[in-house]
Parts: sequence; C-alpha cells; structure tokens
Amino acid sequence: MTATRIGVLALQGDVREHAKVLAELGADVTLVRRPAELGEVDGLVLPGGESSVIDKLSRTFGMQQPLRDAITGGMPVYGTCAGLILLADRITDGIAGQQTLGGLDVTVQRNAFGSQVDSFETDLDVPALGDPPVHAVFIRAPLVLETGPGVETLAALDDGRIVAVRQGDLIGTSFHPEVTGEHRFHALLVETVRARVEAARDARG
Ligand code: GLN
Repeated sequence: MTATRIGVLALQGDVREHAKVLAELGADVTLVRRPAELGEVDGLVLPGGESSVIDKLSRTFGMQQPLRDAITGGMPVYGTCAGLILLADRITDGIAGQQTLGGLDVTVQRNAFGSQVDSFETDLDVPALGDPPVHAVFIRAPLVLETGPGVETLAALDDGRIVAVRQGDLIGTSFHPEVTGEHRFHALLVETVRARVEAARDARG
C-alpha cells in the first residue's frame, strides 16, 4: 500500500504537533511552504496559530492562490482554530484587511470567547467520531456563527454554539485535537485522502 501524502501548511503555528499526529497515523507528511510542496500532497492540514499572520505570509510567499485552487479543486483539508478561520468563506473580527482562503460556507468569529476566557477545556460529544467524547482544548478560539445549507455541524458546546463542522471533504474545528493526543479528526482526513487516491487510481485502471 502506498503511503498517504498529507501536508501541513508550515508558514506559522503549531505545525510540529500536527505532523506528529499524521505520522503516527501512517501518513507521509510534507511541511508545505511553497506551491511545489503543495503539489506533492493529496490532503492538507491548516494548523492553529494566528490566522492574520498565516494569511499575510501565504500572500507574501505566493501561496494564497495555489491554496485556493487546491481547495476549489477538491483537496481534503482539515483546519484547526486559525486553520478553521482560514477555511471560512466569511469572518468577523478579523484584523483590517484580513483575508481567508475560503471553502467552508460558514461565518466564523475570530477570538470569539474574548480576552476574559483566553483558553478552556471541555469534553464534546462528536457523533461522527463515536465514543469516547473528544477532550477539546480551546485557545483564543473562534466560533462558527452561521452555516450554509451544505455544512454539517460535527460538534457544539452545551449552549449550542458550533465548534466543529464538515462540508464535503473540508473539516474545521475551533479547538486543537493535536495537543491532547486526540487522533480521530486527523484519521478522518487520512481516510478521506486514502479513499480519494484509491478511487482516482482505479479510475485510471
Ligand atoms: N486567535 C487566533 C487567530 O485569530 C487563533 C488561535 C489559535 O489558532 N489557537 O488566528
């Protein structure tokens, strides 16, 4: 079986933690900083970090358009926290001029929990992942304020506020599974990529 090639966008943020989880799941991991590296992977993680910085660096390094093209072209992508912000079609409370890559038909509020609650942890039921609940760590986290018709809510807080979504092969979470040893979201990505690569290979005959 050929390894599943998955990239981690490595412009800024907690790149190493994601690379470790993906490697533990058996993926062939590439740190993606340039368009050529993006061309070598079949799936991508957008890490947590600072979305406004990742946005600026992606434009500086000529990565914004290739990333948008990859997403539009159907590449499976998983974004955590800042990565969710980057995947959102619409954001509120961005810095002046902040752009996203888009792909998820959602509105995401950046730093939604305010400065009072900088970070917190909670257990979340995620029916798509089954038992046990996900121990979720939120760090200056965003919230999904609105979802379009094609968007599935994967998890919400007790008060109903949405913190994990999926639309086709795009997944976004407000929280950071990569810091708690939670592998199931990344496993969804790896499985999706593996299935797509095998389907494409079968179609070629
Ligand atoms: N607040 C950060 C942002 O705006 C996200 C924080 C995180 O990724 N942990 O991008």
